[in-house]
Amino acid sequence: MIAARAFAGKTVAVFGLARTGLGAVRALVAGGTRVLAWDDDSAARDLGGQDGAELMPWREWPWEQISALVLSPGVPLTHPKPHGVVQHANAAKVPVIGDVELFAREVEGKAPVIAITGTNGKSTTTALVGHILQTCGFDVQVGGNIGKSVLELSPPSAKTIYVLEMSSFQIDLAPGLHPDVALLSNLSPDHIDRHGSMENYAAIKARLMQQTTGQLLIGVDDDYSAAIFTRLSSNGGVAAHPVSVGKVLGRGLFVVDGTLYDAMSGRATRVMDMADAAHLRGAHNWQNGALAYGAVKPYVSDTKAIVAAIISFPGLAHRMEDVGHIGKALFINDSKATNADATARALAVYPDIFWIAGGKAKDGGIESLAAFFPRIRKAYLIGDAAPQFAKTLDGKAPYIMSGTLDAAVTSAAADAAASAATAPVVLLSPACASYDQFKDFEQRGDAFRSLVARLPRHLQAAS
Ligand code: ADP
Repeated sequence: MIAARAFAGKTVAVFGLARTGLGAVRALVAGGTRVLAWDDDSAARDLGGQDGAELMPWREWPWEQISALVLSPGVPLTHPKPHGVVQHANAAKVPVIGDVELFAREVEGKAPVIAITGTNGKSTTTALVGHILQTCGFDVQVGGNIGKSVLELSPPSAKTIYVLEMSSFQIDLAPGLHPDVALLSNLSPDHIDRHGSMENYAAIKARLMQQTTGQLLIGVDDDYSAAIFTRLSSNGGVAAHPVSVGKVLGRGLFVVDGTLYDAMSGRATRVMDMADAAHLRGAHNWQNGALAYGAVKPYVSDTKAIVAAIISFPGLAHRMEDVGHIGKALFINDSKATNADATARALAVYPDIFWIAGGKAKDGGIESLAAFFPRIRKAYLIGDAAPQFAKTLDGKAPYIMSGTLDAAVTSAAADAAASAATAPVVLLSPACASYDQFKDFEQRGDAFRSLVARLPRHLQAAS
């Protein structure tokens, strides 16, 4: 744990006592701060109390004594409207910050920080950067929006590099984070309800890039990220490198025909064949691979070692995770695909797809996926979004209303076994959040994995 000493001897309020909130409580208490804390959930409150916080309903907080409010990233800061606790903090002119801000004030200048953001690909890229640096002998501390909260990480040592996945909510609450290297993978509409507009969402991601002191790597294959790259690269302050999958760039990093090229210094040299990285399947993962390669270059001079580590990356669960074959059918768990853009990447990889989709619908539905409908042998629709998805698919791709994941897996497996396709794929890539039927995407993906494990090994076609 990292002790947060920036408010030693003062009083700080913590609102929201889930993973990051509890991490903040412990770090602040260890740093000599008096902590007032609250969560609307009594079980979460109990944990906060055990960790040394004084529990007090936020409406009773003595704002005149409070030096900062540490807000959980799940609590609305600005949209649809600021939570009451934020309104009170604003009225009392108390700064509202997150756990990443406390982290930044503690470690700044003591160890390099690599920060990774974007709509999709954050976790994969973060894990990959961590894997490469670990393989190359660093004390890698990976956290933030993935795994441990930032304050649960170990304090800096001579060989420490922090690799942080940053959500837009965390960036909003960390104006004092100045990463040495920052990565922006891509931008497409997501969490717009919480950011008000696509422009505001993109501006928050851009802010992290502006706060960066060393080197930027920015995916330039979508218009919003490309605009951010153009703006920041003409600033002249930090070194901004574009990253593309599909376009040959005069400068930067690019993947063309499955080969990664490094043109960061202006002359393109071949780095690797991305097909050698068995757990980075699909063009989207090549983007993640290229970004990770660029992120570690300032720290690892041996390109061969970087390539070997990219090849040995074991992949992450729930992202295009191969959960096994039954006969000729391959089963892929892409439960983390909670928006249409993420699902598009999975649909682009396979030609004969038995697609399990649905859940808690997001704005925009699946209309943007129409170009992939010819690959869908059949769709198995589940959850709240099923009627809406059925409307979009009507007349364009066959579907059935499965309702539950259980029913969907049974039908899809039988249909895939009976199909004429030589390599059918049963793909869970829901294009939806999970919380209508599951606690989170992990629980949904785990359920899929165990349903597949329980299928008979010799499937017959459904009659
Ligand atoms: P995040 O942490 O940003 O949600 P993940 O690495 O967990 O990203 O991947 C989430 C989903 O997005 C997965 O379904 C994955 O297949 C897809 N995905 C991963 N990388 C990319 C990318 N670079 N571009 C688009 N989609 C991606």
